[in-house]
Amino acid sequence: MSKTHRDITSLIHHPYTPPIGFEAPQQGVFKASTVYFPTVADMRQREWKDKSAYTYGLHGTPTTYTLEERLCTLEGGAQCVLVPSGLAALATVALALLKSGDELLLPDNAYGPNKALAEGELRHYGITHQVYDPMDPEDLARKIGPRTRLVWLEAPGSVSMEFPDLPEMVRRCQAQGVLCALDNTWGAGLAFKPFDLLGDAAGAGQRGSLAVDISAHALTKYPSGGGDVLMGSIITQDPALHLKIKLCHMRLGLGVAANDAETVLRSLPSIDLRYKAHDQTARALAAWWQAQPQCAQLLHPAFDGSPGHAHWQAVCERTPGTGLAAGLFSVMIDPRYSQTQVDAFCDNLKLFKIGYSWGGPVSLVVPYELGSMRQGWPAHLKRGTLVRFSTGLESAEDLMHDLIQATQAHLPWIS
Ligand SMILES: *Cc1c(COP(=O)(O)O)cnc(C)c1O
Repeated sequence: MSKTHRDITSLIHHPYTPPIGFEAPQQGVFKASTVYFPTVADMRQREWKDKSAYTYGLHGTPTTYTLEERLCTLEGGAQCVLVPSGLAALATVALALLKSGDELLLPDNAYGPNKALAEGELRHYGITHQVYDPMDPEDLARKIGPRTRLVWLEAPGSVSMEFPDLPEMVRRCQAQGVLCALDNTWGAGLAFKPFDLLGDAAGAGQRGSLAVDISAHALTKYPSGGGDVLMGSIITQDPALHLKIKLCHMRLGLGVAANDAETVLRSLPSIDLRYKAHDQTARALAAWWQAQPQCAQLLHPAFDGSPGHAHWQAVCERTPGTGLAAGLFSVMIDPRYSQTQVDAFCDNLKLFKIGYSWGGPVSLVVPYELGSMRQGWPAHLKRGTLVRFSTGLESAEDLMHDLIQATQAHLPWIS
């Protein structure tokens, strides 16, 4: 055997292993597809479904287990499954819990691709769905039938930002024995606790008297905070429900990369500070919009007059003045402005970039054609062209000047 061969082999079977007892703020990136077992007997014995051992990269590494545990702490859940995107979290919940003949209920303001999944794959698999009015728990209760197995909740709804009566919706699901899953991307575990909706849990991480069954989260947004990672999580408090989701997750072969998990772990310590900063800037800009005649309606749950403001207060602001509300809001631009003018306004913003997703350092803007997204124009929304803003971490003053220059140039006041 030549020396080179020996070197190559010892490079792989290297004697150096990091000493136990290394302590630092981040615990490192553990990457693996293969995980070794000391003996065949040990291999046969290992349990992959919990965190007592490691069996295969897809089933978890120290890095992904750490992220799962920290997300449970953030959201007040007990078990977590990581998936490659927020949409994969929504899809995995549906595939784990629904079978042919079942029915799914979605709010009319649900995240668009979740509706598309129901209209596409789920329908092809013989799973039907109905859309309910997010502002009417009565309508939800009416639509829960003998085949209903899962209800999606979103607070607030995507794009139009209506905040539903979340506790009442959960009660209606529970009264009829139907599982409810919340898309918790907006709240991020900070604005309210999905497993303690009334804020009466005995201690941190405890389930309160009212809880959703599942919290799905696009970690792509605030937990990543960089606009550079796609990931999702599915958090539960019931071990049997978790196992159902975990088994489906395993059979679908879903996993996340250790480097991505580490990126999210690195961002988590600052999520609370970032969330509050995004929130503060969004409110400053929303207040400016509210005073502009071009704004037919401001859609921001923390503002009086925005649909569901009282529901936001009940769930997110138990002590006046302390409620959190993320960095998202929409403006219904007065219908006297054409879509072309609104598009030109968006095109001419300098700091706000045109792009989907949110939660990163850069402010974003997207105009939406709400009419094509809903079953009908909702009674609680004024007519107009909807523009959604997501505030980044830039100075609020600079962002405000950007809005002013683009408004003056492309949305001049027409009296
Ligand atoms: C972004 C988003 C998702 C999907 O997340 P991706 O990681 O982009 O797939 C799901 N739900 C909501 C409410 C979102 O904003």
